[in-house]
Amino acid sequence: MMLRDRPKGRLPADLTCVRCLEIKPTEELDRLLWCDECLASAKRRAMVRGWIAGGVLFVILALYVLVWVQPDFSLIPTAWIMMLLVAFYLGARVAREFAFAWDRLRNRGAVEATPPVQAPKHKGEDEAQAHW
Ligand SMILES: [Zn+2]
Repeated sequence: MMLRDRPKGRLPADLTCVRCLEIKPTEELDRLLWCDECLASAKRRAMVRGWIAGGVLFVILALYVLVWVQPDFSLIPTAWIMMLLVAFYLGARVAREFAFAWDRLRNRGAVEATPPVQAPKHKGEDEAQAHW
């Protein structure tokens, strides 16, 4: 347990997840006070962003190869396809790590919380999302 080294009795049995604001057992929260569900949803979101980024990289590279390189596809088409697939896969992996790290670092409070009424959107959020 990661909380083992703390003085006994200092932590309450339940803490509030900083992301969804739900009360959870302390052992279900990690050191940033994210619950398991929030962690899982952040990973899912990062994965989706990663695939999108990989797809964008794939399209850009494919266009570059087709427009500028113009290889003789009759000779080694598989090599080019392999290169594009590797770029897609690695791009998606790297982008996913960055998206997840970004989410963790930013660590905006109550981002997964579901308010009873639709909360007004924060200004600048859409622009920030658009970069992904
Ligand atoms: Zn949570």
